[in-house]
Amino acid sequence: MAKRIFQKPRGTRDIWGEDRKYFQLLRDTFENVAEEAGFLKIDTPSFEDTKLFVRGVGKETDIVGKEMYTFKDKSGNSLTLRPEGTAPVVRAYLEDGMQSLPQPVSLYYFSNFFRYERPQAGRYREFWQFGLEVLGDKSPLVDANVIATVSRIYKKLNIQNTSIQINSMGCPACRPKYIKLLKKFYAGKVTKLCADCKKRYKTNPLRLLDCKNDKCLALQSEAPQIINNLCSTCHEHFKTVLEYVDELDILYELNPKVVRGFDYYTGTVFEIWNVSDGAQNSLGGGGRYDELIQTLGGPSVPAVGFGGGVERTIEEMKKEEVGLDFPKNVNIFVAQLGSKARKKCFKLLNDLLDAGIGAEARFDKGGIGDQLKIASKLGVGYTLLIGQREAFDGTVIIKDMASGNQEVFPYEKVVKVISKRLKST
Ligand SMILES: [Zn+2]
Ligand SMILES: [Zn+2]
Repeated sequence: MAKRIFQKPRGTRDIWGEDRKYFQLLRDTFENVAEEAGFLKIDTPSFEDTKLFVRGVGKETDIVGKEMYTFKDKSGNSLTLRPEGTAPVVRAYLEDGMQSLPQPVSLYYFSNFFRYERPQAGRYREFWQFGLEVLGDKSPLVDANVIATVSRIYKKLNIQNTSIQINSMGCPACRPKYIKLLKKFYAGKVTKLCADCKKRYKTNPLRLLDCKNDKCLALQSEAPQIINNLCSTCHEHFKTVLEYVDELDILYELNPKVVRGFDYYTGTVFEIWNVSDGAQNSLGGGGRYDELIQTLGGPSVPAVGFGGGVERTIEEMKKEEVGLDFPKNVNIFVAQLGSKARKKCFKLLNDLLDAGIGAEARFDKGGIGDQLKIASKLGVGYTLLIGQREAFDGTVIIKDMASGNQEVFPYEKVVKVISKRLKST
């Protein structure tokens, strides 16, 4: 029988090579933008009490209904691998006493999440998100500031084709009235909807507005819009958010179809769309969630957040060819011929690394030709060679890989010479 190697679970992936470089570039860029704007990093546990998500995200959402990785541990506690980042941050805010800090508390995370979804392009069962949460401030300025920070992240990544789509989802005073109006509009038309929307009509009618099914799209354009049905408080808040955003150089559109897939949003919601090639992919989204903290057992604390998809953003970075000239960490290869030279090369390699110069060697290869082939595959700028003669003389050959020029230097000077050359290129 052939030996079977293990495979990763469906919908997961290994992140390495070029993908890992994009991943790191996105992570560094996001974390710098967040830190500079005064956000504090938070890492929460990978799993939480199942009830946190059932209550926080909402029973009727797809996430809680069909996508959670829920299990019982050996003590019989029901735990769930986190499917999203906001409920855990709110739990930490309440449990760790962050209410006693000066408000608002601005937090950010860069974490992996888990949802049992049908794997498809850019969609994984273990996926990564970068997120911002600002807790304890009801001012519309905070909404606008989160939108500005999100916009800055994509600008710093040099992603061009983005547009921010903004809507308001109303509050407990005006949303139920709007939902009634919406249900009334759809009442005689349920048979024209897709199978999912037939269910949504009963369980989560707002989601009727962001279905991508052709049948449903036609009806959406005629449906009543929530921004025309906001109460005066919501209307005033939303107007002010837009006025602030107008002050900045941010491309945005009002979009009544942005309703987000979570129950906890109130007021401002927004998505950042990639609008290249006529496509409209959401790279991330967020909004205000003034009710969530109370839903999770806390006092009334207003909050705004954002979550961005790492995989989808990296796809866009690749498409727009941003960040392709990653700095090279290794620019030196050390090659040897003979056992005495091998020992000297081993020391040279470590002297280079001690001096902070990235270098590699292949000590299992005996022939210089084989080693030079590897050096050119690695694309290094210089190869340092020690053969039998150099080992005897105490010298090293520096080979410039681009020009092919070779020069001999005393061993003691090589690290200094190389360090100078790398700095000048
Ligand atoms: Zn309202
Ligand atoms: Zn539909």
